[in-house]
Amino acid sequence: MRREMFAGNWKMNTTHVEGSVLAEGIVSRLSTSGSDVVLIPPFTGIESVSNIVHSSSVALGAQTMSAQDGGAFTGEISPVMLKSLGCDYVVLGHSERRSLFGETSAQVLEKAVAAVAHGITPIVCVGETLEERESGQALAVIETQVRESMVGLTQEVVVAYEPVWAIGTGKVATPEQAQEVHASIRSVLSDLFSVVVAEDTRILYGGSVKPDNVASIMAQADVDGALIGGASLNADAFVSIIEYNKTSTE
Ligand code: PEP
Repeated sequence: MRREMFAGNWKMNTTHVEGSVLAEGIVSRLSTSGSDVVLIPPFTGIESVSNIVHSSSVALGAQTMSAQDGGAFTGEISPVMLKSLGCDYVVLGHSERRSLFGETSAQVLEKAVAAVAHGITPIVCVGETLEERESGQALAVIETQVRESMVGLTQEVVVAYEPVWAIGTGKVATPEQAQEVHASIRSVLSDLFSVVVAEDTRILYGGSVKPDNVASIMAQADVDGALIGGASLNADAFVSIIEYNKTSTE
């Protein structure tokens, strides 16, 4: 049985003070939820958000990290540093990291191995561009990303399917498109690891998830949660997404 997960990727938004206010707003609005909730502030907000969430059930994550433990890597942040601030998750291979900073699947794998070694669960992002989807290559592109970013990993990993054309654009994948890709990812995981690992691995959908579209996405058999960008910057919207069951039955 896979536990639902909702992760808010704040990207390069919020000062540490604004991040504290947002985290407080989210924690105070959340009723005890049956889902895992993860807040993912920028590095500068991790400590202040950590102080707010540490006594709650809300977990903390980072948006990327170095594969190195420490040393002469100016500007980088290590898994040791993240773990010491209470980060249990790290997003790896977000499409913005891949497209704007040239992060490759091989680097994602290296970072994922380092994260796991430090007790941090990687949230490995994969997804196709609009061009790849329109030319019928989406499933093949995603399969390659999953294999290259995850081969040989032995510990729990979360996968996030984020179609590049749906991130921050307001265009959400249809529930059927999401289900098709999620089922395909699960079958790649089964081949790469085992049926048991594939069945246990959570696969999140990301791309313009909002309170009014989350229920139809979450209704899909292989969708186990969401990675949320824009809407996670608003405490009311983020909590409505997490509590989509409550909202839709009221
Ligand atoms: C993201 O940044 O991972 C994301 C899915 O953003 P948005 O929800 O704004 O599309």
